[in-house]
Amino acid sequence: MDQDVKQVLYTREQIAERVAQIGEALTQQYASVVERGEQVVLVSVLRGAALFMADLAREMDIPVEMDYIAISSYGSGAKSSGVVRMIKDVSSDISGKHVIIAEDILDSGLTLSYLLKNLASRGPASLTVVTLLRKQTRAQAQVECAHVGFECPDEFVVGYGLDYAERYRNLPYIGILKPEVYQ
Ligand code: 5GP
Ligand code: MG
Ligand code: MG
Repeated sequence: MDQDVKQVLYTREQIAERVAQIGEALTQQYASVVERGEQVVLVSVLRGAALFMADLAREMDIPVEMDYIAISSYGSGAKSSGVVRMIKDVSSDISGKHVIIAEDILDSGLTLSYLLKNLASRGPASLTVVTLLRKQTRAQAQVECAHVGFECPDEFVVGYGLDYAERYRNLPYIGILKPEVYQ
């Protein structure tokens, strides 16, 4: 797989360090919520954010529920279709809970805007977004993030959960895919 990567952006070690920082910050932010006996739920956006949330959860020193949602906006290619659709909903009721959405990458913002609207309608106690990557793009729908792992260049990236046509998710680092691979 390495030969298909043009450039490594974030190494395994850099990702681990950043995820640990975010986990620590969240632990502090939600400490009082937990003390009040309220429930925190991490919601991962499948499939890209599964690895991120799994690592993030282990860096959080508070009890959290883990749930999953699946959204489609890209199909299997490297270009956005602009169509967002829910493939799988969370398994439990999120009303009255503090929801932290864990996303892999924020690009146009379409996916997260849709998701925020959808989840907000169910009356969570709070709703925040944590994204591992945020692309430096032009037309971004306004999505507020509590934490951003890395501000990444506007290139097609893979690894650490992110795929191209379901490949490269298990790369331990994040890198830019060689354009000839998807062109
Ligand atoms: P948005 O709705 O913000 O445009 O797109 C977000 C989703 O598109 C991400 O959750 C991710 O699944 C996919 N995506 C956007 N940019 C990239 C990229 O550079 N690489 C990969 N593998 N997926 C991307
Ligand atoms: Mg995603
Ligand atoms: Mg994908």
